[in-house]
This record gives sequence, structure tokens and C-alpha cells, in this order.
Amino acid sequence: MGSICPFDVQFGNEIIALLKTPASRLAQEYFDNLIEKRKCRGIRVKVDGELGKGVSANDAFDEGELVFKDQMLLGSQHSINKMDCFVCSFCFRFIGSIEFQIGRRIYLQGYGVSANCHSDSSDAEGDCTLMDKSALGECSTSGSMGKTPLPKEIIESLMDGHLVLPYSEMFSLPSVFPCAGGCEEAFYCSKSCAESDWEMCHSLLCLGEKSKASSPRALYEFMEHANDTNDIFILAAKAISYTILRYKNLKEAYLKGGDEACNGSTIDMSLLLEAWKPMSMGHKKRYLLGF
Ligand SMILES: [Zn+2]
Ligand SMILES: [Zn+2]
Repeated sequence: MGSICPFDVQFGNEIIALLKTPASRLAQEYFDNLIEKRKCRGIRVKVDGELGKGVSANDAFDEGELVFKDQMLLGSQHSINKMDCFVCSFCFRFIGSIEFQIGRRIYLQGYGVSANCHSDSSDAEGDCTLMDKSALGECSTSGSMGKTPLPKEIIESLMDGHLVLPYSEMFSLPSVFPCAGGCEEAFYCSKSCAESDWEMCHSLLCLGEKSKASSPRALYEFMEHANDTNDIFILAAKAISYTILRYKNLKEAYLKGGDEACNGSTIDMSLLLEAWKPMSMGHKKRYLLGF
């Protein structure tokens, strides 16, 4: 028998309210507003109480025409993929230069296996096996496979920009913007991506000196645990941080409004539900297709 979490007891009703499937009418309103705000035409999200959500066309559009474009709510790069691709931590486009991407990949493949296998747990060993077989197969084991590894100086000159590969100017990538919090973990394609990520969730998850996390040590241990076990925890942490920051902004706006007549705890809960809304609207019904 598992032990009962004290939070489940103390905040049982609040947790039920947060996890409740949104009413069809509210979900319909939410998606209608979203499509209206994005100035899209030609598509509609239809919310069905029985079957869940479905997207349908309600106007004709041409082949290749953009019908809907929206900002991704949250995303996270898999830790193994981080070895291969150096991307913006907010919009996930490649950053730096082709030479840097290639040099970094070869560099990490040479050193990354041991860097990622510091733990003596069986899980970590499992990760190494996976990495050897998939992302790291060709180069990390190049020595043992009889291939000649690239000289260190070549790898360095790829990474520092001294070695330019043919035609790479045809594939220029955005410059790298470091995280303003100083974590050296998050990098961006632009100042606007860095600021958006900071405001949306990274300020509470940054391990840098300007982090707004209430307990940097606890955050560090959480990140280490997530990286050693399952990095879906990091995506979940982003969802929680996003909700906390949205809640704080809503609360600030509410207090500025100065409506003292309302009951404090009721307002707190309704603001929290509003902050959580984009997450709750992602609720999926199980949908079975017959083939
Ligand atoms: Zn970006
Ligand atoms: Zn940071």
C-alpha cells in the first residue's frame, strides 16, 4: 500500500477541481476564442461531450495555404537529443552554425558517454546502452570500431568558427543568446525567445544565479533526478512553473483592480483555474478508431 501524500488530503477539493474534465461549453468557447485570436479562417475545433475534440474545415482553402499557426504551449528537448542538436530552448530551432553543430556533436560523442554515465545506478547504465546503440553508435565507439577519430584541433576549430565548411553560408543559423539567469543550460535563437521563456517558465527552473526558484538546491536535485530517471518530469515541471507564473500575473492584475468585496480563497482558486486553463483544455478523451 502506498502512503497518502499530505497534500492530497489538505487540498483534495482543489486537486479534483484542477483535474476535472472541462465542460464542453467552456472548452468550445476556449477554442473558438483561440482561433479568433490567431486570426485563422477555415478551421474549427468542435468539442463533443461524447467523443472529445475534433478539428474540421468549415471553409475552402488552397493547397499549401497556412490555416493555423500557434505558439507551442510547452516543449522539452530529450536529454539524449541534446547531445546531437544544439537548439533554441524556447522555439527549438537550430542555433550557432553548421560547423558548431557538427563540431559539438563529434566532441560530445567522444566525451559525452562518460559524462552521461557518472551514476552507478542500473538506470544510468541502461541509458548508456541506449545511447551507444542509437545516437552515439558511429562516432563514440569509433576508436574501438577501428575508425580514425578526428584530431582534437579540427573539432576545436569547427566549434570556434576557424574552420568553415563548404557552402555552410547557404545554411546560416541564428546567433546564440545565453540565458539571462546565467544557468549555461538554456540557449536561445534571439533575445525575444530568451525573454519569453524566462517569463513563461524558465525563471522558476533556471539553475543560474538570477533564478527565481525558492530553493535552488531542491531544484538542482529535482533536475538531477529527472535527468537520471525520466526527463518527462522536466516537461511536467515546465507546466507547473507556467501555471504558477500565470497565476501570479493574474493575481497581480486582480489586486490592481482593487475588488475587495470578494472572498480571498474563492478568488485564489478561480485565478488558479484560469491560469491552469490552457493545460486543462489539453485534456483528451480516449478515442477508439475502428479499422
Ligand atoms: Zn528561439
Ligand atoms: Zn537559465
